[in-house]
Amino acid sequence: MRRYDFIVVGGGAAGFAAAVRLSELTQGEGSIAMVNSGKIGGTCVNVGCVPSKYLIEAAKQYYESRHSRFDGVDVMGASLDFGRLMDGLRRLVDSMRSEKYEKVLDHYNIELVGGKASFKSSETLMVEDGGRVEEIAGRIFLVATGSAPLIPKIEGLDSIPYLTTDNIWGLRELPDSLLVIGGGAIGLELGQAFSRLGSKVTIVEALDRVLPVAEPEVSEILGDVLRKEGINILTKSRVSRLRRKGEAVEAEILSHKGSERLTFDKVLIAVGRRPNTSSLNLERIGVELDKRGFIKVDEFMRTSNPRVYAAGDVVSKKLMLETLSAREGVVAAENMAGRKATMDYSSVPVVTFTEPQAAWVGLTEEEVVEKYHACSCRVVRFTDVPKALITGYTDGVIKIVIEPGSHRVLGVHALSHHAAEYIVAAAHLIRAGQTIEDLLDTIHVFPTFAEAMKLAAIAFKRPLKAMPCCME
Ligand code: NAD
Repeated sequence: MRRYDFIVVGGGAAGFAAAVRLSELTQGEGSIAMVNSGKIGGTCVNVGCVPSKYLIEAAKQYYESRHSRFDGVDVMGASLDFGRLMDGLRRLVDSMRSEKYEKVLDHYNIELVGGKASFKSSETLMVEDGGRVEEIAGRIFLVATGSAPLIPKIEGLDSIPYLTTDNIWGLRELPDSLLVIGGGAIGLELGQAFSRLGSKVTIVEALDRVLPVAEPEVSEILGDVLRKEGINILTKSRVSRLRRKGEAVEAEILSHKGSERLTFDKVLIAVGRRPNTSSLNLERIGVELDKRGFIKVDEFMRTSNPRVYAAGDVVSKKLMLETLSAREGVVAAENMAGRKATMDYSSVPVVTFTEPQAAWVGLTEEEVVEKYHACSCRVVRFTDVPKALITGYTDGVIKIVIEPGSHRVLGVHALSHHAAEYIVAAAHLIRAGQTIEDLLDTIHVFPTFAEAMKLAAIAFKRPLKAMPCCME
């Protein structure tokens, strides 16, 4: 039987970050195996961030070729070959998987064991690959098997060929109409991208606003922007039944309008993700799961079995993000190698890559009120941000939440163009325990979207409306 110091189960963001760190910490001396079934690289590169951001960027270029932001600039409108666009997307995914994952394994001397793993005991894994089963032994394990699309119970769903982020990248023709079930990160990002490319998109969201995890100011304006672009958004709504109608799908939708039947070319399911834990035999080795099947871990990323760590989407927590998974992988690796590291979730930047982008870090107003029983915040619209006026991207808002006594910045919530690029500056502020005075003392760049953070800080001190552009 092959034996290893460390066995990492799962070859996605968390697994790779952990395996590379383990190799560094043991200076290449530790024996490390990575067990992975299917394509290497996990969700992000194969079916998540990489293909979705490619499609979003292409859709933006196409959309902007038809919608001018400047008087006197008349746009002619680009043409679209959706099949070629998707070929390009798949080429990028293949090349990034090869460059950023496959080749990395050799560099760090990580042995890839192909197949599906399940625990036989706390020391032994069974790896099944095409009917062949091999047992391998390890001293310490990391479970980083990720997540898969959650499929809701909807009458008739089993009888239609629905899309998820696992198979949507194989599309060769642009759907004329697309029903998106779920108005969260995936539903909004892909819904907007397909709408911008020319599909007639309807988004059905169960709660009272899209992106309900964001601050209300952010999701309300985002909903308005998407509606203005032509997306049919139905909140407090649900799909009660689906059935095939020739090549198309008929959906019965319950909303404030009552019950209506609409027909779509394609249906995309985007109601969350479930953990890949069911076939690992974790109960056998005493690894505790929460009631949705996610693995419970402590701050060291250790499970209830001291020999088994877990990281990434498979872990019970609030957020599923590529960079967060990688950080958890690194923290797990440090502890697996006998060092001490802990996970800090207080300043994790979160971005939904719609246009404008919703980006936030730290606590919401409601969380601050709950924690400190008092809160102070300022909300600034992008119609007051010079860069937004200059570029025509005025749909947006920024909100800063502070602790009233100390003025410490506790949360920054933005909806703006390029918000993903500057939200990490807010994460630094929060991590360093800085105040709005620290933010005000920092010279910003005029004109930028990032300057909105400074303007929101100024709004705590004086009225923004009665201020020149370049007030320091
Ligand atoms: P999500 O949890 O972000 O959103 C799902 C939405 O569907 C919620 O708003 C929920 O209220 C709604 N919903 C649930 N059941 C429903 C039903 N039956 N009918 C209608 N609406 C329903 O999940 P997601 O969008 O599938 O994304 C999955 C995970 O991937 C999330 O954790 C997300 O944060 C992550 N992700 C991150 C990014 C990013 O970082 N940019 C992008 C995509 C996905």
